Amino acid sequence: MRAKVPATADPTLRQLRRLSNEILAQAGIERPEREVVWLLESALGYSHLAMLLQGEDALTDVQWERALGLVRRRAAREPVQYLLGTQEFCGRDFIVSPAVLIPRPETETVIEAVLAQRRSGDRTLVADVGTGSGCIGISLALALPEAVVYLTDVSAAALAVAQENAVRHGVQDRLRFLLGDLVAPLHDAGLEGRLDVVVANPPYIPESALAALQPEVRDFEPWLALSGGPDGMALHRTLIAAAPRLVAPRGFVALEVGHGQAPAVRSLAEASGAYSRVWTRRDTLGIERVVCCQGPDAEEG
Ligand code: GLN
Repeated sequence: MRAKVPATADPTLRQLRRLSNEILAQAGIERPEREVVWLLESALGYSHLAMLLQGEDALTDVQWERALGLVRRRAAREPVQYLLGTQEFCGRDFIVSPAVLIPRPETETVIEAVLAQRRSGDRTLVADVGTGSGCIGISLALALPEAVVYLTDVSAAALAVAQENAVRHGVQDRLRFLLGDLVAPLHDAGLEGRLDVVVANPPYIPESALAALQPEVRDFEPWLALSGGPDGMALHRTLIAAAPRLVAPRGFVALEVGHGQAPAVRSLAEASGAYSRVWTRRDTLGIERVVCCQGPDAEEG
């Protein structure tokens, strides 16, 4: 669709909204009106209410092009979160860029799993492996004011986003950023046997399923954050094998899993013989979403 500026007079905000709605609807975006409001709020600084009240405002060419630029990128399936620059997680806004996975609501189940295990004062050293935006580790730091949280990521660009989020949420003093593959930087930091909590939302899409993902995910989110090897559980295997050496006595491990993966990942953890107890936690849709493991010297209870 051609986005022509009407020749007769300065185009209005109302005209921009109408055209933007058409562009997104034609591109097959499910709820175009809602997304147009977000994109125009971001591009022009109008609140939703102001947009309703000031529909006849004349727009400059610069405003028109800036707003339509975002709308066209959305029509090309760029995730709206990357265009706006943030995604809400556990009630807080996290900065996101194409360097990181966009936080998903089901990942909040990881936070619940850790908080459900909490005993007063005894959860002090936490590691969030493959932290991406930092949403898990930072939410835990905010929920556990006594905790020190190690955030690892193999991507320096991702770690930079996590750092920005730590500053945004005022917890940078209790966070340590470690660049490296999975748990390797935790070993390098001398944390063997010392971590009270190890959490991860590892990439878990089976390689063969990547091509069929919706274009927003497949074409824009980092493959490194999505691809979990042939069956999607390659990184869970690595983490289940590695975590027992890292956790302190009574330590706790929580791994997010994909839909349908919980029984297999749970069996892996049980078969390792390295944990005293293994169980799962469901997300708000009732899907088994997190495999929880208690370290070898845990007291039963
Ligand atoms: N820990 C981040 C999240 O849960 C990133 C996870 C990932 O990239 N697989 O959003």
